[in-house]
Amino acid sequence: RRLECPLHERPCRVMILVNPNSGRGQALQLFSGHVQTMLTEASVPYKLVITEAKNHARELVRKVDLTQWDALVILSGDGLLFEVINGLMDREDWQQAIQTPLGILPGGSGNALAASVHHYSFPSAGFSQTKELLLSCGFMLCKGLVGSMDLVSVHLSSRQRLFSFLSIAWGFVADVDVESEKYRHVGPIRFLMGTLVRLATLRVYQGRLAYLPNTISKTSVETQSDGNTKALLLDSLLPSLDEPVPESWTVVKEEDFVLVLAIYQSHLAEDLWAAPGALPDDGAIHLFYVVAGISRPALLRLFLAMEKGGHLDCGCPYLVYEKVKAFRLEPLTPQGMIAVDGETVEYGPLQAQVHPGIARLISG
Ligand code: ADP
Ligand code: MG
Repeated sequence: RRLECPLHERPCRVMILVNPNSGRGQALQLFSGHVQTMLTEASVPYKLVITEAKNHARELVRKVDLTQWDALVILSGDGLLFEVINGLMDREDWQQAIQTPLGILPGGSGNALAASVHHYSFPSAGFSQTKELLLSCGFMLCKGLVGSMDLVSVHLSSRQRLFSFLSIAWGFVADVDVESEKYRHVGPIRFLMGTLVRLATLRVYQGRLAYLPNTISKTSVETQSDGNTKALLLDSLLPSLDEPVPESWTVVKEEDFVLVLAIYQSHLAEDLWAAPGALPDDGAIHLFYVVAGISRPALLRLFLAMEKGGHLDCGCPYLVYEKVKAFRLEPLTPQGMIAVDGETVEYGPLQAQVHPGIARLISG
């Protein structure tokens, strides 16, 4: 991966957005205890912004003068970065705005991007606690190398469009994500607890899944003018949600699933290495699904193997993995959960396509 170092053109100003309620509610203590001295020693000037409520960060980055900032850094879980990316994409000048280098410091209970960035930079070095991960990410911020990152455009049935940097989950994984929110105070182990609870009440989710395989040539960023001056990002691979998928798409014949997970970073959580081959700018959505019929022990084995990225080597016939450019999911089960980057979104049909390398990420 090619990394540039624009943050070395000093003085570089970094805005650090903190969600004081993320994780165990200790993000501010993590900052003063571990990050502050690092930044001072590396002479990185920063401003700390403490978010007051959900969507505060999204509103702020929608309006902020980005010429004043060389990087936006999130000290929280993945949810706060999801707000920031969507705030940047809401702007008239989104094409410029989304080029602002983004950084992540793990302060939440769901620190998937931080774990992924650590993995891309130090593939053979694990970490045993979130504190180690925080130090590693703090070090990368001081080093200031920047690479490109894909974003995925997600269309929901209400015609709302979201931008996602991490994952789209339905079924087992979405239920664990959402249900384990109430154990946030225990930190990252909440996913393991949630998994064990959900296994006890394992269920099948009905739906239709179709995807466009990754074999087609590289997609480029296509835009269109809205008649005024604003360029609109086109999702040229996606038909309208009420039209059938094109001939070139693969329609999955099974309709009974245990989970569908689309992920575009290596890690789904600190200890879940879900997409072993994924890179932040590989231009692919790594689509996994598990069809009904899998036993509880076999599913548990998959999740345990995932800690070391070994689930695809389990020889489990119920697990399918495809690299895709776009996909559509139409849940038929009347009620359920869908999580985008760990955040609950409206339940219903959705489709998504990848936009290679349109954002920038601070990594090692
Ligand atoms: P965690 O990993 O602990 O879930 P996140 O960063 O994902 O931490 O944040 C959890 C949720 O809190 C997200 O939906 C985010 O948008 C929201 N949020 C952000 N700032 C605040 C705040 N100051 N108070 C409450 N919720 C917030
Ligand atoms: Mg979260």
